[in-house]
Amino acid sequence: MNLELSEEQTAVRRLAEDFVAREVAPHVIAWDRSEEVDRGIVKKLGEVGFLGLTIDEEYGGSGGDHLAYCLVTEELGRGDSSVRGIVSVSLGLVAKTIAAWGDEEQKRRWLPGLTSGAYVGCFGLTEPGTGSDAGNLTTRAVRDGGDYVINGTKMFITNGTWADVVLLFARSTDAPGHRGVSAFLVPTDTPGLTRRTIHGKLGLRGQATAELVLEDVRVPASALLGPEGKGFTVAMSALAKGRMSVAAGCVGIARAALDAAVRYAGEREQFGRSIAHHQLVQELLSDIAVDVDAARLLTWRVADLIDRGLPFAVESSKAKLFASEAAVRAANNALQVFGGYGYIDEYPAGKLLRDARVMTLYEGTSQIQKLVIGRALTGVSAF
Ligand code: FAD
Repeated sequence: MNLELSEEQTAVRRLAEDFVAREVAPHVIAWDRSEEVDRGIVKKLGEVGFLGLTIDEEYGGSGGDHLAYCLVTEELGRGDSSVRGIVSVSLGLVAKTIAAWGDEEQKRRWLPGLTSGAYVGCFGLTEPGTGSDAGNLTTRAVRDGGDYVINGTKMFITNGTWADVVLLFARSTDAPGHRGVSAFLVPTDTPGLTRRTIHGKLGLRGQATAELVLEDVRVPASALLGPEGKGFTVAMSALAKGRMSVAAGCVGIARAALDAAVRYAGEREQFGRSIAHHQLVQELLSDIAVDVDAARLLTWRVADLIDRGLPFAVESSKAKLFASEAAVRAANNALQVFGGYGYIDEYPAGKLLRDARVMTLYEGTSQIQKLVIGRALTGVSAF
């Protein structure tokens, strides 16, 4: 694996750094305090090409490899996890899945809008009663002539309130197990689809998370993404890549924690000298630094495997598991460096910790990642 960045990768990382400094950093505290979601940021993300990374140019994408995608995701995660999540879902889970599984008509219908930021996508897998056990979902799609009629409820859907299209998973056949699940591309203005914003989140407060209710939502059979009954495979293929994106965002959180904590340690004086002089403070800083490097290397390995066309799903679970736990540790250590000031939101550590916490929960909890890794090691599925 080559750890040296190419000129293009270096340039895209710099572009992301500039973007965060200009478009994200000035608003982070306000978005967090007011639970404000800035729809305008999506268009700007599209304009700089961040919503089209790894997607073919003929569908409006900006090309690039998965390492470039990780570099941008890390920078966005360093700036604001809510903004990072918009990209990870709209591009990472929705557009990339359409690119991988869609027919020509579906690609032409959705990809140019998603990559330009004219559209936002959301990923509707989780339900009130089925989270980790997603294959047991109960939303039903019943065939009616040339259409499907869908009924069910989806829970905790990132971008849900303002998305234009939902990649929705529903049980459409009576075949047993996961085989009955199919994936559908459902425009969110379809009659019968309503959404409720979920307020009061611990973190990611600048992100629209919603419950989607589908009551007799009618879509043509052409909305089916991938073969009927293969929806669970579609979902898992999306999440395998998505976990790399979450991991890259976590590296960004840990880096933000490190930068802030090092700066503060150099400025704050106690016992007659800056707290950077105290060995136990240096221990906190060095623990964060090691977490940043280890999480990044695991994440880059996934990108490298994907770009070389090699199997990557278990490596992606390892990266997501480690990086999400590392981001929580890093933010918590940074908060400790800030002392009491870490506990108020004028300083960044508290928000980083709140934003990091969900990373160990979504796209498969830490326990679920361990079961994926354990299954690969033993050949035994212990879910
Ligand atoms: P449960 O599955 O009920 O788990 C509860 C606890 O039991 C966890 O600790 C879990 O690890 C543990 N557990 C469950 N099964 C096992 C087992 N077999 N062995 C050991 N432990 C187990 N979903 C989407 O579809 N799209 C989205 O865009 C999306 N965005 C989200 C955004 C936010 C802010 C949040 C909070 C969630 C989001 N989710 C989304 C849902 C998320 O993926 C689920 O919350 C997650 O998969 C866990 O499901 P659950 O909350 O139902 O917890």
